[in-house]
Order: sequence, then C-alpha cells, then structure tokens
Amino acid sequence: MATINLFFQQEFSLHLVTNIIKTEIKKDKLRILLTETLAETENPEGGDIGDIFWPQGNLKFTRVFRTQNGDIWHEGILNGNRPNPNTPCSIEIDSYNRLHNSAYHSFSHLITGIARRLLKKDFIGTSKKFSDYGILTLKAQKDALPAASEIWQSALEYINKPAPIERLVLSKEKALSIAGTFFQSVIPANASEIRLIKVGHDLAWIPCRGVHLRDLGQISSVENSPKLSAWTEDEDLCFNYHLTFHQ
Ligand SMILES: [Zn+2]
Repeated sequence: MATINLFFQQEFSLHLVTNIIKTEIKKDKLRILLTETLAETENPEGGDIGDIFWPQGNLKFTRVFRTQNGDIWHEGILNGNRPNPNTPCSIEIDSYNRLHNSAYHSFSHLITGIARRLLKKDFIGTSKKFSDYGILTLKAQKDALPAASEIWQSALEYINKPAPIERLVLSKEKALSIAGTFFQSVIPANASEIRLIKVGHDLAWIPCRGVHLRDLGQISSVENSPKLSAWTEDEDLCFNYHLTFHQ
C-alpha cells in the first residue's frame, strides 16, 4: 500500500498527526514510512525536510524519497529509541525550506514559460537549487542568446505584485490537449490524472507535480549572477539567480 500523500491539496498544512508503518536502518540512518505524510519529494529544487516525533524519540529527516510503489520514506538521524510499527507520531515540515524550494521552483517555471513563448519552442527547463542561488538550464539554440535579457526583463515584471499561481487537475487526455502533446514524454505512463500549473497569468498551462508558491508576488526581488545568459559547454542557455521572498 502506497503512502497517502497530502501535499497536492490546495491548502496544505505543515503539521500532521499520523502513524509509523515501519522503519529501516541503512548506513546508520533511520528511514521511516508513515501512513500519511505531508512531505513532498517532487521539486527538482529539493524535497522537504523536517521532524517526526513519537513518545520515545524523534527523527530529524534531511531527505525524503518516493519508491516505485508510491511509498514515501523519511530518512535522517534517530534521536532516542527506534519506534515499533504502529506507533502514533506527528510530522512537522520545515516551512522555511518548503518556501525556499517553492520560490525557486516557481520562478524557474516563470522563466521557462516566458522563454517558450518568446522563442516559440517547446522545451523543458532543468533546474537545481543551492543554499542561496538557483540555476535554470534551457535546451535552446544558440541563436536564442539575444533573447536572454528580454526573457529576464519580462520575468521581473511578474514578481513582487499579486500574481496567483493557478492549478487544475484533469484527466490525462484533457490535460495533454491543453498543455500540448509535447509533454507526453515526461508524464508517467500509468498516470490517470494530471495536475496543470499556470505560473504567470498569460503563460501556458504545463503539467507539474511540484510544490509552488501560492502567488508569484511572494517573490520580492531577483538578482541575476554575472553568469546570466552564459552558454555551457553543451550550448544551453543558463540563468543563475538569487531571489528573496516573503510569506
Ligand atoms: Zn512545478
């Protein structure tokens, strides 16, 4: 039975009372499987971190991962006694880390969406996040370089003012008819429903399982690093940026 994952809900909570199903120890770290979890694993910018508490101990988890059958494991350092199966517990998500990941993730959608519109091309950005900056790489053509500053300037117009991020959950067929069959290749074959996200009110809907800000206006400022618009060895367009946000 797969873990019930609650993070897709529109109004998510950061604290939940639940139950430990089982535990494993791998390389001195404890892994815990819960009946239900609030932890998200899907953002390329990083999954949730947080704490699980039970009467005789706690786990500070620094990594969450999903197995093929849908189970979500929380891994970290055990403090106290290893819990038995069926122990009641509570889980708390680190809200700052969640917001940090969500802000970088949402902004990378914005840049990718603007780039797709300006360059009139379908492609998917690849993003990564470090402690204080993010990198978004776009598989683009070299002739797109002049558009880089236009993409960046356009992105700045969406932030720090109300700009709700919209969500839709639709059947796979309907979702692909809206987002474009281009996305077929990145959607799991067994998915029956797809969540679409719109970051930027006039940009396209695209499929995404990740966790987003509620509003792009929560991003208060973005600075590009000197590496903005540099070409990597593979001739991809790269945006390196640092952002600040409010709750
Ligand atoms: Zn997303």
